[in-house]
Amino acid sequence: MQKLQNYIAGELVDPATDNWLDVYEPATGEVYAKLPASDEVDVGRAYEAARDAFPQWSGTPAEQRASYLYALADAIDRNLDRLAEAESRDTGKPIGVAKTVDIPRAAANFRFFAGAILHSESASHDTNGQAINYTLRSPRGVAGLISPWNLPLYLLSWKIAPAIATGNTCVAKPSEVTPMTAFMLAELIDEVGIPQGVVNIVHGLGDPCGKAIVEHPGIPTISFTGSTAVGKWIGSTAGGMLKRISLELGGKNPNVIFADADLDQAVETACRGAFSNQGQICLCGSRIIVEDSIADAFTQKLVERTNAIKLGDPADTGVEFGALVSQEHLAKVAGAVDRARELGGEVLTGGDRFTPDSERCAGGYFYQPTVIRGLDMSCDVQQSEIFGPVVTVTSFKDEAEAIRLANDTSFGLASMIWTGDGSRAHRVAKAIDAGIVWVNCWMLRDLRTPFGGAKASGVGREGGNDALRFFTEPKNVCIKF
Ligand code: NAD
Repeated sequence: MQKLQNYIAGELVDPATDNWLDVYEPATGEVYAKLPASDEVDVGRAYEAARDAFPQWSGTPAEQRASYLYALADAIDRNLDRLAEAESRDTGKPIGVAKTVDIPRAAANFRFFAGAILHSESASHDTNGQAINYTLRSPRGVAGLISPWNLPLYLLSWKIAPAIATGNTCVAKPSEVTPMTAFMLAELIDEVGIPQGVVNIVHGLGDPCGKAIVEHPGIPTISFTGSTAVGKWIGSTAGGMLKRISLELGGKNPNVIFADADLDQAVETACRGAFSNQGQICLCGSRIIVEDSIADAFTQKLVERTNAIKLGDPADTGVEFGALVSQEHLAKVAGAVDRARELGGEVLTGGDRFTPDSERCAGGYFYQPTVIRGLDMSCDVQQSEIFGPVVTVTSFKDEAEAIRLANDTSFGLASMIWTGDGSRAHRVAKAIDAGIVWVNCWMLRDLRTPFGGAKASGVGREGGNDALRFFTEPKNVCIKF
């Protein structure tokens, strides 16, 4: 069985304790690899490698750093098939999605930040003709980067790319649930010759491995993407150590559909926005809020469209909907639907496990895309993040009620609005408490824009110049004329 290893100081190494974790294939429910159960000793070694590499890397001209990032992006492209296969096996997502979305987007992250660092500017201010102030921005040292399981390579690259583009070195910890593509990335980092110690990847559980990164006194910057519960702990712990933190957390995103919207497009995108990656994208629109007058027509079309999704073995090309990531997650999703039934919710389609027509998938973690109607917005199913293929439909009477329902959540990550009225689009976009508002679209990303959420969805935006700022320390120099 394949043993994945940590990548420290340019070497693939076993964990200090020689303890290993099982890696499961969600489509089969079987263990297919072993993973280092790293602890604070491994994190300490990774930190030392990153610390030692920092002086030279931070002094490397930006052009040269950028050329390494471009080379890494090209290496990801060259290995697209291999990486997509690994990502699909690791996560249970359809191979087609991994191949056309996740892996190409990981390469795009490296290219984007390679370009961004070459075009970044620093401010200068003429102070009443008496002085000139200019801002220097320096890398902050060793960055701690912790990522979740749903888009493993994409989200890890979203952190590694800006961290090292700006001259930091890093200790990165991918999710223990889906470690394979991060392990493969280490091989590619080596192949393109990024100097040893610039990127270190340690594998293991949140506690002790991730915790050791957060608590390490030598790591001043923590970029975390994951659950709100862990994010709160990181916020209080790293905040107490006066570290700079970016927390990209959970969501329960509203998708608001007005009667003047293009109904077919709204249905098509609502379905994609609810069930892509089996609903395991933080940006999924899991609460559909639709105007009374079109609620029945919309819901009927949504159910029909949902029933047409091609479910199956994620390794089969053409399958659109695969397995959930783990047994534990399957139980959580099934439990949320049971709870919805208890609360009087009407399950219009889905609401049960399924087994693909493939012998190898008999023990896999499959759950149908599920549409539920008739739940009050205040109930726990509407309020808690399920992070699976479960969408609720709730109707509203007027714009004010739509906004109230959309904002009736502790989260504030993303949202969608569907309307043919431009003025209303601007008005409602302004009123919704979320970091991202998509009007008549979903997941249309421009990497230059701020990314991230409000309220319990996080703090410290990433994306574009925000990421370059996050990973650098400003210093103002004031020179009197
Ligand atoms: P999680 O919080 O359980 O784990 C995320 C990462 O944190 C993993 O690598 C894990 O090992 C690590 N971790 C766990 N405990 C830790 C600790 N005490 N200290 C340090 N690290 C620790 O989240 P998950 O289940 O992997 O991911 C799903 C969650 O991620 C969902 O809530 C989803 O909304 C969120 N998410 C958010 C975004 C975003 O951009 N806002 C993107 C993707 C996923």
